[in-house]
Amino acid sequence: MIVMSEQMASLQRRIVEQGRVLPGGVLRVDAFLNQRVDMRLMRDIGEAFARRFSGIGAGCVLTVESSGIAPAGMAALAMGLPLVVCKKQASRVSRDGRLSTLVRSFTRDAEYEMSVAREFLPDGTRALFIDDFLAMGEAALGAARLAEQAGAALAGIGIVIEKSFQPGRGRLEALRIPIMSLARIKEMRPGERDASKAIEFVSED
Ligand code: 5GP
Repeated sequence: MIVMSEQMASLQRRIVEQGRVLPGGVLRVDAFLNQRVDMRLMRDIGEAFARRFSGIGAGCVLTVESSGIAPAGMAALAMGLPLVVCKKQASRVSRDGRLSTLVRSFTRDAEYEMSVAREFLPDGTRALFIDDFLAMGEAALGAARLAEQAGAALAGIGIVIEKSFQPGRGRLEALRIPIMSLARIKEMRPGERDASKAIEFVSED
């Protein structure tokens, strides 16, 4: 049996107490992760990722703006690595030296361009990708494509909240790199008034 750490039990509690389940498989966590950000929780999250991924030989932590920055930044701090942030629109100032790929946003149901300056992913870099949510796996797969264009590679994927009822995890497993999700949601029931029943987690035993 896997014993859940106290920190990650507290992440699940926050999801139950402050998360809001919307129709269409969307969870709002504006109260502690996406808009008001609980930095103590982010520190614990960063340390949990650092413990799991310290042995993978990562040269940087890679994320995508904007909601991935807080957890990825704390992981980068805990691991003593630089944080590299993929942009969601190519900068109009300089396109030279930028790598880009099209990604479909689950929450906006639209495509956006994910880009990063080649110089921040030097050839041969092993990057740890960290994001706030895993739904369809689009952001992580986009990051993997950018890394590949740069001659770098993803060496691990850390997710704060995985919605396990969506196909993202299965798609990412094809990359054959370690994946860790701190909270895994099995089912969400929009309209359920009892908060303890609105969100069901994947059991860890
Ligand atoms: P994916 O790229 O795996 O399809 O979706 C993950 C990305 O979409 C994350 O970067 C996250 O910002 C956003 N996202 C996906 N599902 C949710 C959700 O239920 N709630 C929130 N707040 N963001 C989500």
